[in-house]
Amino acid sequence: RREAEAKAKAEQERAARDKDPEPKKREHTRPPTVIVDREKGASYRRIGFLGEGGFARVYEVVDDAHDRKAVKVVNKSNIKTKRNKTKLWAEIKLHQMLKHPNIVRFDECFEDSDNVYMVLELCDHGSMMDLLRRRKRYTEPEARFYLVQLIGACQYMQDMNVIHRDLKLGNLFLDKNMNVKVGDFGLAALIENPGDRKKTICGTPNYIAPEVLFDTANGHSFEVDVWSVGVILYTLLIGKPPFQTKEVKAIYRRIRENRYEFPEDKEISASAQNLIMSILNRDPLERPTLDEILEHSWFHDGPFPSHVPVSANDGPPDFF
Ligand code: ADP
Repeated sequence: RREAEAKAKAEQERAARDKDPEPKKREHTRPPTVIVDREKGASYRRIGFLGEGGFARVYEVVDDAHDRKAVKVVNKSNIKTKRNKTKLWAEIKLHQMLKHPNIVRFDECFEDSDNVYMVLELCDHGSMMDLLRRRKRYTEPEARFYLVQLIGACQYMQDMNVIHRDLKLGNLFLDKNMNVKVGDFGLAALIENPGDRKKTICGTPNYIAPEVLFDTANGHSFEVDVWSVGVILYTLLIGKPPFQTKEVKAIYRRIRENRYEFPEDKEISASAQNLIMSILNRDPLERPTLDEILEHSWFHDGPFPSHVPVSANDGPPDFF
């Protein structure tokens, strides 16, 4: 019964999401009902609205083989500047070369006179941020399951010399089987020569590593993604990011001072706290590597589920 209820609720939420919430004034920028890739002779029928980000709107579509996909649409009027064009092409180039079970699959890319379209794997259960809002916190077994998948994706990105630079719950999506898919490569960077360091200040305030903000002379590298993994783990287990406050400046101050606490009313295991503290080290060279994180005892300290049930969208699953 629980499963049936969960299914009905998910359907309701999907229906709500499917209502295109765009205001009327933007109507002229809405993509056609049937989006056509003329070069390949493929078409995608728009059936719902999934979400909106900085530049893009993301729609659910059905392709010619009746498969459901997500299409990320960027209106050309939004990428008039050279800088924005370069950013979009970088996102496409990087995302296109990444093929991993825990990274949103990039299928196609094409344009018409109005928009650039990216056809992506559909992630039925939205982002992990959506789930956190509904659930408030994740259980430790769920966090173990998701963290192993996230770290797998991070290891692959490092092998491909890609730093994501914007890992956060809002950019981690869940597919129909509740597996993690890393998405949104809008801030990702390619390390073209070993040892190269990046100097652009970017990221999302709550998840940004201290060296990005305070060591601009020296630059940053792959360790910024490790930092974000620590912020993600804390957020999953506690329900809000460690350095969160109302003002961005105050968040940065807390990051600089490494000031965060484990609230007493939200009990988490000592080994989880230990792992989080080791990752949230101000010195990037002192942080554990991805392999070292996976070796931490927390991963063996309690149940490790083989999968997460869809019912986890509405309430804590029972893994015992
Ligand atoms: P931006 O790069 O502009 O921030 P995102 O890639 O974050 O855009 O996408 C915006 C929103 O669209 C997301 O928050 C999510 O709700 C939805 N979305 C994006 N990609 C997918 C996908 N592959 N499957 C399902 N929903 C998606």
